[in-house]
Amino acid sequence: MKTLGLIGGMSWESTSEYYRIINQTVREKLGPAHSCKSIIYSVNFADISSLQHQGKWETLASEMERIGICLEKAGADVIIICSNTMHIMVDTVQKAVGVPLLHIADATGEAIKDEGLKKVGLLGTKFTMENDFYSSLLKDKHGIETIIPTEDDREVVHEIIYTELISGKIFDRSRNKFLKVIERLAERGAEGVILGCTEIPLLVKQKDTFLPLFDTTLIHAKGAVELLLG
Ligand code: GLU
Repeated sequence: MKTLGLIGGMSWESTSEYYRIINQTVREKLGPAHSCKSIIYSVNFADISSLQHQGKWETLASEMERIGICLEKAGADVIIICSNTMHIMVDTVQKAVGVPLLHIADATGEAIKDEGLKKVGLLGTKFTMENDFYSSLLKDKHGIETIIPTEDDREVVHEIIYTELISGKIFDRSRNKFLKVIERLAERGAEGVILGCTEIPLLVKQKDTFLPLFDTTLIHAKGAVELLLG
């Protein structure tokens, strides 16, 4: 079996989900005693978050690049970055290593196409919603159009991610706020919604809404196992 390298800890609340899903998926595919060969490099998210909010993307890119190289040297055959936001610098990391990286938006684009949808809402950090690294990949590579929430709604979503979800705080009142944002995206034509931050699936579940949700943590983790097992 090949080894999966995870750039994790962004935040560890979602990396622990990745760890559970990759192992469960390998167990389902190979049998009850099997688990996923993996190496997790887990960062201190406070440092990452602080650099993000200061706009120090080049420093972050160098750090991700350094971690990618560490994982490759440690024996990773496939690498994933366990955060949607940190795909801002995915090309830098990919250029620095000789093993494939599975892009989270790419895996998500495939899942959306499988459902036959063309226009979806995108929820995530402001960095993911407001830059075009995510939406342009979906558009150019998969022909999927994304709708982002209004400025006020983006603020609400971003705030809940950084003040609650990354520290494991799950509140009904925040779930309700998310569901309202999802409703407004549906009114504007979204046929489904991407949970484009790996902590959002801890708060919002498919049973909470009629609109198809795309859980990027689940899609990315399962896609990585697929790539690993060939
Ligand atoms: N896990 C999040 C994401 O998927 C946010 C934390 C981060 O900024 O990396 O975007």
